[in-house]
Amino acid sequence: MKANCWMGIRDMAVRDVPDPQLLNHGDAIVRITSTALCGSDLHIYNGFVPMMVPGDIMGHEFMGEVVEVGSSVKNLAVGDRVVVAFPIACGACAQCKRGLYSTCENSNPNAWMAEKQFGYSPAGIFGYSHLLGGFAGGQAQYVRVPFADVGALKIEDDTLPDESVLFLSDIFPTGYMGAELCGLEGGETVAVWGCGPVGLFAIASCFLLGAERVIAIDRFEYRLALAREKTGAETLNYEDVDVYDALREMTGGRGPDHCIDAVGLEAHSPTPMYAYDRAKQALMLETDRPLALRQAVLSCRSGGTVSVIGVYSGLIDKFPMGAVMNRSLTIKAGQAHVQRYMRPLLERIQNREIDPSFVITHRLSLDEAPRAYEIFNGKREHCEKVVLDPWH
Ligand code: NAD
Ligand code: ZN
Ligand code: ZN
Repeated sequence: MKANCWMGIRDMAVRDVPDPQLLNHGDAIVRITSTALCGSDLHIYNGFVPMMVPGDIMGHEFMGEVVEVGSSVKNLAVGDRVVVAFPIACGACAQCKRGLYSTCENSNPNAWMAEKQFGYSPAGIFGYSHLLGGFAGGQAQYVRVPFADVGALKIEDDTLPDESVLFLSDIFPTGYMGAELCGLEGGETVAVWGCGPVGLFAIASCFLLGAERVIAIDRFEYRLALAREKTGAETLNYEDVDVYDALREMTGGRGPDHCIDAVGLEAHSPTPMYAYDRAKQALMLETDRPLALRQAVLSCRSGGTVSVIGVYSGLIDKFPMGAVMNRSLTIKAGQAHVQRYMRPLLERIQNREIDPSFVITHRLSLDEAPRAYEIFNGKREHCEKVVLDPWH
């Protein structure tokens, strides 16, 4: 089969690789019909995720048709159309029972490596380094899905095209969880850093959960326009205004009730702190650039929640812990517990409350994956979200 493989930093190649095989009784093999690129893939592309090996198959946002099932699979049959959650979760361990699927205790065969970095291991993730299990990803024609009963959601409604349900695999649940972590009760003002696909779903979800105003922050005008036009956010371009001052002004001097970081470890900034963080990163004195996170903490209303759905991998510097402590802030974070959100969010799609396909700007073939990474990483051609077709 064909698959998009990581060959080195900013080096992808579509290669012929062996087809996946069933390895465990709970596995399914899925023939992929649609697969997407994610901002998380860019962290790998740009070399910020350790323990990649040349030839590793990328991708964790995919859907398709079940073509083979292991003997213990109960919920799926050959021919079923499924969307697959990006964290791999057993459904039976203590963490899965709590609904914290992205911290499953049974799905990372390389847990001992992750424990060194994180204390305890999170779940395995498709196409996301050997630190998180070394699982082959879904930017390919076929994929092996472990614990298929838990991670694969059957889509029975044939009237819904792939593009409307594909993002149940990651970015819609991720944005929704980012909003949910804020504990919205209705009427709040929320600020969202980052107008990538994750930021857009966080904004849309804040409104679904009752926020009155959402203020979205980025520097790419085309992305800010998407936030205004597709989700109804007010916007700030952080290259034009001081974000802290502008937010303070817009919220009666108090700050947004809650702040969502949908940027993560590769944040950019026009301030000298950017050079500081880049230098520290280059010298391996910090792994991540927390420029948006620092600003979210300092901008948040006292007593508010800073919800971190942007990905961080390790250590950050100059974190304003004094603000967190003295102003009673709450920090909540996580890789999305996708399995928990897939069904209720599918219902919202079926009820026409949202059509997630609004984020797609590029539809390309799997063969064009290397170019797709260049465009998405460079924010060129007004790229917001790329969907790849593995067969055409
Ligand atoms: P993306 O690269 O398309 O978007 C990131 C956006 O952040 C860009 O538009 C960029 O201009 C903006 N940005 C950079 N610095 C900024 C700053 N200082 N202030 C405001 N905006 C800034 O990526 P995406 O696909 O939207 O993903 C966003 C983040 O979410 C990534 O870190 C990704 O890894 C993470 N993610 C997390 C989960 C999860 O489960 N928690 C799932 C998917 C993605
Ligand atoms: Zn993703
Ligand atoms: Zn589990």
